[in-house]
Amino acid sequence: MRDFGPQRESMVRRQIAARGIHDAALLDAMRHVPRERFVDASLQDYAYEDGPLPIAAGQTISQPYIVARMIEIARIAHGARVLEIGAGSGYAAAVMAQIAARVYTIERHGQLSDLARGRFDDLHYANIEVRTGDGTCGWAEAAPFDAIIAAAGGPDVPDALKQQLAIGGRLVMPVGRSLHHQRLVRVTRVDAVRFETREFDDVAFVPLIGTYGWAEEGARPMPSPSPDPFGP
Ligand code: SAH
Repeated sequence: MRDFGPQRESMVRRQIAARGIHDAALLDAMRHVPRERFVDASLQDYAYEDGPLPIAAGQTISQPYIVARMIEIARIAHGARVLEIGAGSGYAAAVMAQIAARVYTIERHGQLSDLARGRFDDLHYANIEVRTGDGTCGWAEAAPFDAIIAAAGGPDVPDALKQQLAIGGRLVMPVGRSLHHQRLVRVTRVDAVRFETREFDDVAFVPLIGTYGWAEEGARPMPSPSPDPFGP
């Protein structure tokens, strides 16, 4: 089998560390996960490029830097229990599973969750659980979580997800009124009733579709451009 090790090492240095991400556990995790195994065989040559790539069901595997940046903002550490909304290829879940104790990931497309589950089995990840369904409602039986990452963008942060955070837990999600442009937001649960919100980078994720996200494509007219939710 082809050795992608040098490309992976170069990705970590040039795309991640050079952009200011220095968390040793995170860099180490990215050095270990074979990203080429999370894309179609025809795209393996592009697996370490500095951008997202198409996967099945019209979705994308996120750019490596964005995966690292969300994990950094969510401050995922050893021993953490993590929930991911939007398993997609399974790549981000695998990176998180290198660091966290347990990763629960939900994907609305059964085709993608099946593929991701197969990859986790092949690569012997025993600490990832995959479920097909609407992640905007969370995974109540496995809550509370130290970190929740949404890998798709919604109009606002679902309350159901905030309620599944442990005290001190962080939720990171792309939020915006436009379907394809958002800002990364971190919500930290301060105590039972108080949450602190902070905004980070501008990003472009696929839409979060579900009960507490956008409506199913085609189910109702897509939203028209409206004022920036973080504006004055
Ligand atoms: N973390 C993924 C990125 C996937 S892109 C990776 O590393 O490859 C975002 C994914 O979110 C898509 O696969 C999309 O189908 C999924 N998604 C969108 N809305 C969702 C919802 N309500 N629940 C679960 N998954 C959802």
